[in-house]
Amino acid sequence: MCENCLLTDEAKLFAQSRYPFPPFIIRFPTPYIHEQKIVEELCKYLKENKQLALELSGYRKASAKCSSNECDLLLFVKNSYSFSILYDEKNWPQSILGLTYTRPSTPSIPPQLSLIIKNVSLSIDFADFTNEIKASYPNVRNVIRMKHKNQLNIKLVKLEFSEPGQRDEILNRGKIFVHFLTYDVEGYLAPARVLICSKCMGLGHFRKQCKQTQDTCKKCGQTYDDVNNHTSTCTQLQCIHCQGNHMSNDMKCPKVKQFRADLTKFLLSPAIQANHQGNYLNLNSTNFPPLNSAQRHTTFNHNPNSNHWSPNTGSTNSILIKLIL
Ligand SMILES: [Zn+2]
Ligand SMILES: [Zn+2]
Ligand SMILES: [Zn+2]
Repeated sequence: MCENCLLTDEAKLFAQSRYPFPPFIIRFPTPYIHEQKIVEELCKYLKENKQLALELSGYRKASAKCSSNECDLLLFVKNSYSFSILYDEKNWPQSILGLTYTRPSTPSIPPQLSLIIKNVSLSIDFADFTNEIKASYPNVRNVIRMKHKNQLNIKLVKLEFSEPGQRDEILNRGKIFVHFLTYDVEGYLAPARVLICSKCMGLGHFRKQCKQTQDTCKKCGQTYDDVNNHTSTCTQLQCIHCQGNHMSNDMKCPKVKQFRADLTKFLLSPAIQANHQGNYLNLNSTNFPPLNSAQRHTTFNHNPNSNHWSPNTGSTNSILIKLIL
């Protein structure tokens, strides 16, 4: 199939689809919870005790990662303000509805709370640079030197914030001052999220649209009637896209990377940006099944209040496309 034929409407929608923020996970010591009541109770607690209005775009119970007498509740926040509420340890109650809980992991800070500093010399003292930024902007959590695909440092530095205020302020100004130097900043774009069919491992369609009858093993690429049984013991690795020595849903696959780069280019095209708040956000969430782990870490987003991500304003976006290729 030609490369561009794979850029289906489903693939494009999925790339910019629901739940752009990584979920917050709460683990309960019982498999029986009332999800809705827990969510309501958490929102009520935050409102009454912290005067914070948490907004969620969804929640989902999951048990795949915990033992049989536990369950997880995944919370998907609606915006970066709500992300920052849950990101702050101090905002969590001791218990919810009388249930104790743990939080097995903290989500990574998403693109909406990140920005890119451009043209940061490779010869600076990076520890010094980091300290100065954190001293001036206490809400900066991480200062990360970006790398090219070959792991060489490049002149872009990513800042990750724990809340949107300082990040948006710097982005609106378009500049940041560090050690008496002025640097240009831009919004950070993660590479587009790639839609891979969980039945045939094909690119650009959902399982329920799949025309294949048997399932494809993601390891060896062969089809089987009972693929789960087979895959658990399968030891051969052959990608169906490139015949390489990796799983067919591996984001490192050169064919998958090319597909993702094509998607990213599409998403950055001026027509899509102009249209972004129109049709492309009117998504029916029932079309989007839970993400598999290979897809979950890749999200594509932009800040609709900022125009810093236009490909015309700088080279960051083209650099990001190069980074993922
Ligand atoms: Zn398929
Ligand atoms: Zn196999
Ligand atoms: Zn491959």
